[in-house]
Amino acid sequence: MGKKIVVIGAGFAGHTAALYLGKALGRDHEITVINRHANFVFIPSLVWAGIDRMQLDKLQFLLRPVYDRFHVNFLHGAARSIHVDDNYLLADSAKGGGEQRLNYDYLIVATGPHLNFEATPGLGPKEGNSLSICTPPHAIEARDRYLEAVARMEKGERQRFIIGTGHGTSTCQGAAFEYISNIHKDLLHRGLRDKADIKWLSNEAALGDFGVAGVTVAQGKSLRTSEEFIRMVFDDMSVESQVQSAVKAVEPGKAHWENYEGEEGSEPFDFAMLIPTFKAVKLNYIDKDGQDVSDQYCNPGGFLKVDGIYGQSYDDLVDNPDSWPANYRSPLKPNLFAAGIAFAPPGPISRPHTNPKGTAISAAPPRTGMVSGITGRLVARNIIAEIENSGRQHSERMTEMYAACIASMGNSLVDGSAAVILIHPVVPNFKKYPSTGRDVFVSSMEMGLAGAWMKRMIHSTFMWKLQGRPGWNLIPE
Ligand SMILES: Cc1cc2nc3c(=O)[nH]c(=O)nc-3n(C[C@H](O)[C@H](O)[C@H](O)COP(=O)(O)OP(=O)(O)OC[C@H]3O[C@@H](n4cnc5c(N)ncnc54)[C@H](O)[C@@H]3O)c2cc1C
Repeated sequence: MGKKIVVIGAGFAGHTAALYLGKALGRDHEITVINRHANFVFIPSLVWAGIDRMQLDKLQFLLRPVYDRFHVNFLHGAARSIHVDDNYLLADSAKGGGEQRLNYDYLIVATGPHLNFEATPGLGPKEGNSLSICTPPHAIEARDRYLEAVARMEKGERQRFIIGTGHGTSTCQGAAFEYISNIHKDLLHRGLRDKADIKWLSNEAALGDFGVAGVTVAQGKSLRTSEEFIRMVFDDMSVESQVQSAVKAVEPGKAHWENYEGEEGSEPFDFAMLIPTFKAVKLNYIDKDGQDVSDQYCNPGGFLKVDGIYGQSYDDLVDNPDSWPANYRSPLKPNLFAAGIAFAPPGPISRPHTNPKGTAISAAPPRTGMVSGITGRLVARNIIAEIENSGRQHSERMTEMYAACIASMGNSLVDGSAAVILIHPVVPNFKKYPSTGRDVFVSSMEMGLAGAWMKRMIHSTFMWKLQGRPGWNLIPE
């Protein structure tokens, strides 16, 4: 009898899983994806939308036609509760279609983050005091406000830009870094760079930390850190920087912060793009008696606990690379998986810090698009192996994975540039690489036009892959 597999969320993780599941099982089994939005959004290119260098139709596509080709059902709606003992979930269809019940034999939770603007008073486009580029509507609003700032500079006014993180525990510094370098480059193009003061404001322990405790690479006979590299980039762009700071509140034109030492200050701005902290999308895990057992299944942030070792001190976690999950399966239910941002990491990658006033200031661990795609493929492969009885087991920990971070500076193939940072492994593994936790010969950091080409190629090849076009599965996540 055919099995029922449900995937909640069609971002990098869920959509990748759906393509692999559809290809292998779509004709004989029932695969359903439920997603809040009708489109897949290639989120990394929202950086370009946020400065009017790419239109939204170039970075998103309708999911249903892709799923039709892969024999995958699509429900446009939002999952609400997972009934873990009875193997079904309840969802609300979009556009008033009412409640839906979906039974499953296997379930993948791939809901990404809830953008937790509420954690910082006044933060975010809803409150109107700061901007975001995390979703298409946010990026469009950021673009419009950016173009207004450009118009003011054209009239001779100076404008002050603050870009970075909007909370002590935000992650995704890479996106903010890419946005700041794109703004710098775009203003250069427009001949307006001398009218702008641009500042990096972040919760990182040091420049170049990016929530992965920075990276060290071999360069000739010496070692070079991401802190030195990013400092050089910022010096080159005349960007001022402030790290070790938690934005505590944002009022119109002013961001208030606290730093590592507990000192307070505020930063005036005309334009602020600050990434919020993330928490999990709210899903209720319900047992057979109707009790909410979410606390047993999830960490305090609401992310689904999988096969990692949770609750250790930071030092114990650093000492044991096998604490990081390998197959992303819930220890409580073998038919329940999480992929991408939705899985609970066992702890931070960067050393946590709490200031004397009790404010936590440390970058949370990122699960980037690449990690999300890889974990989506992995869980799909394990489900396929189990259904096909192949006896195969697929596993990959973040202490083994590669990550490539390409932060563009404009999207021109003629005079664009990009910082290309290759990290192996994403989470330092001091058992394997005792000196820095990473392979300093494989990890690398470069800046140049080649990176701009790579970034454009990534956009195009991923849009191809994720639409399931010929050869899609040959393109790595
Ligand atoms: C501006 C920006 C630039 C970035 N650039 C890069 C980059 O260059 N490289 C890189 O590797 N990473 C980058 N990232 C990070 C990358 O986008 C994320 O790591 C990735 O999107 C995470 O994938 P995901 O599938 O876990 O979550 P998401 O992509 O957030 O997808 C989750 C999906 O689940 C849906 N959903 C949520 N709740 C429900 C529900 N209850 N029911 C149904 N559906 C639901 C959402 O609508 C969404 O479609 C960037 C992020 C940002 C914000």
